[in-house]
Amino acid sequence: MKRKAEVIYRDLEFIRRGLDRFTLPVLSHLSKIDKYAATSGSSGSGPRPKNSISDPVGNAVANRVRINDPVGQTIKGIDSSIAELVRDVEILIQKLDYVLDPSRRVPVEAQIPECSACGRKVMATSADRLRSGYCFSCYRRWLGQGKPLRGAFEAEIRAESLEVENP
Ligand SMILES: [Zn+2]
Repeated sequence: MKRKAEVIYRDLEFIRRGLDRFTLPVLSHLSKIDKYAATSGSSGSGPRPKNSISDPVGNAVANRVRINDPVGQTIKGIDSSIAELVRDVEILIQKLDYVLDPSRRVPVEAQIPECSACGRKVMATSADRLRSGYCFSCYRRWLGQGKPLRGAFEAEIRAESLEVENP
């Protein structure tokens, strides 16, 4: 991560505190202010704004009339921003689940290349990567022997590592 965990956590605290201001009473208040934005899909209880359902034509006219209503436009913006936040948070949760679930990482780990001679996993960094299929030390040795046949060279390395394990 580019940033410290504490810094990211402070950001999240800021987000949480900000979102906590959108309580249900506040949102109800906003929907009353922007009463002409009510769509036919709304099914909330409580007092229904005038014109919202019973008079779709009047509602459309009202929307046109109030097109320059900056408060109403801002409230519509809040509504769509929250909908976007929901999508962003869903994606964040999916990513968190992905990185916290070891079983999902197996395919990635399986991609870590192994030296064809000694079998050591290389980390695929510039300092530790496969060279002609070998780790750095095996590759140097292979070069030092004048690039012998791979099968014989790899058998030699394997035999040596067995000796080390079972002297
Ligand atoms: Zn090796």
